[in-house]
Amino acid sequence: MDYFKKYPIQKDRMIDSFLEMIAIDSVSGHEASYRDYLLAKFNELGFSGIEDDAGSRLNGDSGNLLFKLPGTINRSPLLLSAHMDTVVPGHGIQGELVQFDGHQIIRSAGETILAGDDKAGVAALLEAIRVIIENGFDYPPLEILFTVSEEQGLLGIKNFDFSQVRSSLGYVLDSGGDPGTIVVQSPCQNEIEYRVRGIAAHAGMNPEEGRNAIQMMAQALAKMPCGRIDPDTTCNFGIIEGGLARNIVAPFCRVKGEARSLERSKLDQLTAKLVQVFTEEVTAQGGQPEVDVVLLYPEAALQADEEVVRLAVQAAEKIGVTARLESTGGGSDASIINGAGIRCANLGIGMKKVHTVDEYIEVEDLIADAAWIISIIREAVM
Ligand SMILES: [Zn+2]
Repeated sequence: MDYFKKYPIQKDRMIDSFLEMIAIDSVSGHEASYRDYLLAKFNELGFSGIEDDAGSRLNGDSGNLLFKLPGTINRSPLLLSAHMDTVVPGHGIQGELVQFDGHQIIRSAGETILAGDDKAGVAALLEAIRVIIENGFDYPPLEILFTVSEEQGLLGIKNFDFSQVRSSLGYVLDSGGDPGTIVVQSPCQNEIEYRVRGIAAHAGMNPEEGRNAIQMMAQALAKMPCGRIDPDTTCNFGIIEGGLARNIVAPFCRVKGEARSLERSKLDQLTAKLVQVFTEEVTAQGGQPEVDVVLLYPEAALQADEEVVRLAVQAAEKIGVTARLESTGGGSDASIINGAGIRCANLGIGMKKVHTVDEYIEVEDLIADAAWIISIIREAVM
């Protein structure tokens, strides 16, 4: 790969920053030290950040952090985003640089995750901005957003005030897949909680006076769709709990489930059916059904010929990386950003085995991530 010939990315500096970043604990809700680190690094480049109030709203120690770079040239602004938080085990992370399969990789030296999710994205953004500033490249107004609590159901971005942002195009650096992967389609998802209220009674003395909520729930679940519904649509029951004791007719039962689809109409149809079957079954058995449906995130569908996709494809080609348009089964900050009316693609950054202690990333992918961002910014000012 000739990323260095194209753009003077400083490989050692980038590796050092990445190792420095992952050594700062930033488990969801505790991103303050990492926020301070990023504030300092961007201050060195001459940019000050704005922190919002998502921290206090979420009972965390940091809000989302937004840097607004004015740009050297009058073009449409661009939003670039990655998340600051990590999953557990994420305390005291030490990265090590090793050879693996003929490649230089960075992996966790201990019994923790690596936090390449999403610090590879953050490190790539920082290196890209450094290279652009140092080399006097032109850039459009940039809005660089680092979010909190992404790993807790996109809570940070859900609490972000989008009125601060002017961009109509954006990129989130937070997908699996090699650099060049552009996620153009992602599902919408409903969280669905089903509750059955029955009647308690002694299980041995007078069971006929009770109404067993667990059995009513079981009978309803048996008639409800579950698993893969069609190529775009799935649903699941994930948690069940209920009852009080072995010898009490169970007075309540609760199931937490979900439904998701690439298409909103299919999600709506499936959700309506789940609610209807559940309600009818429980009612028919003399129980009291209750259902809560919460839309966790909206769907995103980008077209291959629209600007946000074209820019990323052209930028990848210019650095010799093959662009691949992909669909995913999960949500990300990009889902919420799209929902806010900003056309936004989630980009693959090469992180591997994320959310496990075997997580790693190839150094070459880290460098490619930075090169890709620089290339996107260069395409945006063409
Ligand atoms: Zn992530």
